[in-house]
Amino acid sequence: MMAGERWGLDRRGLILGSAGLGALGLGGCATGAMTGPLGGPTPTAGGVYAPHLEPVRASMNRVFDITVCLRPFRAAGPRLEAETIGDALVIHNYGHGGSGWSLSWGSGTLAVRMAMASSPRSVAVIGCGAIGLTSAILAQEAGARVTIYARDLLPDARSARATGSWTPDSRIALTKTAGPAFADRWEEMARISFKRYRRYLGLPGTPVEWSDRYNLFDGPPDSEPEADDPLGFAHYGDRIRDLNGHSEVLPPGSTPFPTPYVRRNSSMQFNVADYAHTLMADFLAMGGRIERREFHSPAEYAALPEKVVINCPGYGARALCKDESITPVRGQITWLIPQPEVNYGVYYNGVSVLSRRDGIVVQAVWGGDMFGYGDDHEVIDRAEAEKAVGIIAGLYSRMKA
Ligand SMILES: Cc1cc2nc3c(=O)[nH]c(=O)nc-3n(C[C@H](O)[C@H](O)[C@H](O)COP(=O)(O)OP(=O)(O)OC[C@H]3O[C@@H](n4cnc5c(N)ncnc54)[C@H](O)[C@@H]3O)c2cc1C
Repeated sequence: MMAGERWGLDRRGLILGSAGLGALGLGGCATGAMTGPLGGPTPTAGGVYAPHLEPVRASMNRVFDITVCLRPFRAAGPRLEAETIGDALVIHNYGHGGSGWSLSWGSGTLAVRMAMASSPRSVAVIGCGAIGLTSAILAQEAGARVTIYARDLLPDARSARATGSWTPDSRIALTKTAGPAFADRWEEMARISFKRYRRYLGLPGTPVEWSDRYNLFDGPPDSEPEADDPLGFAHYGDRIRDLNGHSEVLPPGSTPFPTPYVRRNSSMQFNVADYAHTLMADFLAMGGRIERREFHSPAEYAALPEKVVINCPGYGARALCKDESITPVRGQITWLIPQPEVNYGVYYNGVSVLSRRDGIVVQAVWGGDMFGYGDDHEVIDRAEAEKAVGIIAGLYSRMKA
């Protein structure tokens, strides 16, 4: 494999797989070479100057929260299919792994297409996370009166504990189990979602924005060990290269970072606090109803007044639908006090950092896609948080003034 491929979008070859770079949205097609004049500011191969970068104040003293969440992973990809329960048509829409926010609009579009086939006047949506809320809004736009039934609403649903990055193929499926038909469906979902996100750019509160991501290495990236991937996680990023944009290798000395190897790309990020608030407000403004309710079996859906139901319980489907095809993939975020002056993300030494409006997300991703796989312990691991923050503190202590 060529060095440029390892630096670039060829995610099979990326050092930490999508769990590492994908967590930050650090895909991108590498351009340029590791050459160029030293001293700054230095143009990259593409003629772009590295901007001024404020340091992240990484310290356990600035941690204001640690959150843990389980990704609802299915080897075959999300469950998107119809089932008849009593006299209700139930459209399942769950199991989006580490890609639920990114794929939500596309997945919801496919689910709503099935739900609206018989032009129902009213639709029930089970769940009020990323998938339920977007499906509900899409069903409203398709002409239905929509009621959401859910145990937890955003920001209490698991979706609120996500990184908030455009990562449409992060732990979304296993290549062999999902097969080529799912790859086509994935691409359709990713393209629909990407286009829909255009609507949320530039709004007050900045629910969605683009930011730069810096991928830092102490040694040649090709010399770093590849993460184990015994299961063969699917990576479909090549199919949407035109959306993901390009990444560029920055010449040594052209950034304040202390590492000799720096790659930069730009990606979308979701400032989840504001984005979730925007979605809730939009749903309610269009006449949506929300009812807090816990279900114990999908058989209970048959008693709802709505005869078309879109089922979006996320990881909850494992208990609710007795669906053991859902595997938990644990993820923990350590939250540093927001720094509005930091407007970029970093990946370094197995830790990803993303500066969001509602906090700086620090996340351990060492071990690649297998990190957290099969782990359903939704409890805080303080040692993991300290190690991750320590790595980033060490990086910034070496950063140039
Ligand atoms: C650490 C971490 C980082 C992540 N980062 C990203 C990222 O950067 N980008 C990205 O695209 N994705 C990311 N993800 C993945 C993303 O968070 C999930 O795919 C997404 O949240 C799934 O959304 P959901 O709506 O299906 O599930 P949930 O948010 O869990 O919502 C499920 C809803 O169903 C309800 N429910 C469940 N069971 C019942 C029941 N029995 N009765 C009534 N209601 C019920 C719940 O109360 C809730 O309202 C990340 C995940 C983790 C863990």
